[in-house]
Amino acid sequence: MFEALGNKLQDILDRVGRESKLTEAQVKATMREIRMALLEADVNFNTAKDFVARVSEKAVGQEVQGSLSAGQTIVKLVHDELIETLGGESKQPTLKNDGNVWFMVGLQGAGKTTSTGKLAAFYKGKGRRVLLVAADTQRPAARDQLEVLSKQVGVPVLKVNDGETPQETKGRLDEYLKKDFRDLVIVDTAGRLQIDEALMDQLADLKAELAPTETLLVVDAMTGQEALNVARVFDERVSLSGLIITKMDGDARGGAALSARSVTGKPIYFAGTSEKLAGLEPFYPDRVAGRILGMGDVLGLIERAEQADLKAMEVKKPGEFDLEDLLLQLRQIRKMGPLGDLLKLIPGMSRALPEGFNVDEAQIQRIDAMISSMTLKERHNPKIIDGRRRKRIAAGSGVEVQDINRLLKMHEQMKDMMKMLQRFSGPGGKGMGPG
Ligand code: GDP
Repeated sequence: MFEALGNKLQDILDRVGRESKLTEAQVKATMREIRMALLEADVNFNTAKDFVARVSEKAVGQEVQGSLSAGQTIVKLVHDELIETLGGESKQPTLKNDGNVWFMVGLQGAGKTTSTGKLAAFYKGKGRRVLLVAADTQRPAARDQLEVLSKQVGVPVLKVNDGETPQETKGRLDEYLKKDFRDLVIVDTAGRLQIDEALMDQLADLKAELAPTETLLVVDAMTGQEALNVARVFDERVSLSGLIITKMDGDARGGAALSARSVTGKPIYFAGTSEKLAGLEPFYPDRVAGRILGMGDVLGLIERAEQADLKAMEVKKPGEFDLEDLLLQLRQIRKMGPLGDLLKLIPGMSRALPEGFNVDEAQIQRIDAMISSMTLKERHNPKIIDGRRRKRIAAGSGVEVQDINRLLKMHEQMKDMMKMLQRFSGPGGKGMGPG
């Protein structure tokens, strides 16, 4: 998700991030490019306009701070604004100890039934006693589909009968809950192909009877801005509390997710990321912003790093991040867990690695071997590694000279990325990366 927008923004910010001073004209040009990138990603016109206006305003008023250059300041402002636009603090549906009734609403095909099953699995995993109510009497197969999902998850399901009134449904639900304690009831309501009055009346009637504590709209990311028009209409009629955006895995642009908060005023609670039951993630604006800008999941890395002895991670200044540091980091990280996942958490690493690069143990061992074949002097000052030295190192580690070239380039890119990331830790700040 967000690949297209991410690549564009990263290119723009890579360029500007290197500048120590920026003229007003350069800032303006950059803002124009960012606005274009947002619009191409199908971000709502006003959302994109406001985004750029806020960044510009702060950029103009902002003294270049501390160790940050002008370019880095812009990168930081864009990053912060992305988080705000995505909703700021991560929000989750309210869960009381008991009596939680959640409505799942949305158009047919949005992924409502699938998401109902996913939520059941998610909250069952958190120790909740979930009951599903199959109330989508509109789509012929929906109730059977939910029954299949309920079996997979291992939670009971109450199926609404054809022609049943909301009062009757309420009565049957109360009966059920008397016999079997359930603290979270998730109701898969009827969808339609389009918004129509009959649907809204039906939902409003059921809502009046069941008095849900949360009303979650399921929207399909692939439908872009249309998803948010749908949200507005649903909100007017049945008052939404939050959104679940599905099919983020198929949406390289991300316009719906980026505009959702500002267009609808509702938080995104979850993102659907696959057809499978496990394909549902709580939505963290800060982590998503980091991913869009290719900064790696710094928080995720810190969480794991805190569990390991990470002396090797402490790099004094990005400019001093040499090959010896890289070697120590790689070795430290290998002790920390599944390599593929971890490597992608290192800021800059996902970009520095070639497209389709498969992170495997053998490849890391090769990097280790290459750096180990260098003298300490070379590791501390890679600039001295000329053609002759490259040949020697390649021979010593059993690789081609091209592999050495690639390693040195990767190291350069990591250094650049670390310079940009310096702001995350700040002077005396906590965190991975130079501080
Ligand atoms: P409903 O009519 O809203 O209940 O839609 P369904 O739950 O039946 O989903 C419609 C289609 O979208 C199904 O083929 C689902 O497997 C698929 N789907 C739902 N959520 C996701 C998702 O997050 N990612 C992907 N790739 N497919 C999804």
